[in-house]
Amino acid sequence: MKITIDQLSKIYPNGNRALNDVHLEIENGMFGLLGPNGAGKSSLMRILVTLMKPSHGKVTVNGYDLVKNRKEIRKMLGYLPQDFRFFSQLTTHEFLDYAARLAGMKSGRERASAVDKMLEEVGLFEARDRQANRLSGGMKRRLGIAQALINSPKIIIVDEPTTGLDPEERIRFRNLLSTISTNDVIIILSTHIVGDISSTCKNMALLNRGELAYSGSPDDLVEQC
Ligand code: ADP
Ligand code: ADP
Repeated sequence: MKITIDQLSKIYPNGNRALNDVHLEIENGMFGLLGPNGAGKSSLMRILVTLMKPSHGKVTVNGYDLVKNRKEIRKMLGYLPQDFRFFSQLTTHEFLDYAARLAGMKSGRERASAVDKMLEEVGLFEARDRQANRLSGGMKRRLGIAQALINSPKIIIVDEPTTGLDPEERIRFRNLLSTISTNDVIIILSTHIVGDISSTCKNMALLNRGELAYSGSPDDLVEQC
């Protein structure tokens, strides 16, 4: 997989410039997107998950234009938004079953086996009958990643996933991301926490006020500071 971001800019209708001429190439593995509040991370995420169009420039996935091919590309995407909330009374396995239905899995048997596999993978199998909106913060985040992974996406986008977690849950979540980072997937982790990236990502970009301030390995960035 390869994502190419070319001269990308986003200007909101009110004139706010959220991204300014950003160039980036993202290949398989975990990629960290670091930046303070207002840097443009969420705007870039929204473009990558095809919820918003760029104002200028373009994004390609394996050479295919993201905007023109958004229907096909959406099928390869898994997304954990920043403020993912469980409003429903569903249990964890009911919730994932619903996510699997939305992802187009028609057979009940196929869904049941996919759901159990996901629950195991994120360490929530014991909690399969618990109500999703009553789980701890860390468990909710892990259930969020499970719903993002249910359709075996090739590009997984997680927006500020460790915000509000205690240190132990934060480490557990980082480790979980590392285990799902197999050879043929891209995981993009957006965060304002340096530790999320330095411990997990081979490559990263630093955004500041919509500008690309750095791209390369986290270690080289630390050396430059
Ligand atoms: P981050 O996720 O790094 O905090 P954002 O992409 O949310 O950054 O925001 C980048 C800039 O764009 C900020 O100045 C923000 O106020 C502005 N912005 C974000 N969303 C909108 C919007 N819907 N309308 C206008 N301005 C926006
Ligand atoms: P983030 O943490 O991603 O920067 P915010 O909390 O700044 O998100 O924004 C939350 C919502 O408000 C988003 O949908 C964003 O698009 C919108 N938003 C952010 N900044 C502005 C702005 N200056 N004008 C209008 N909408 C904005």
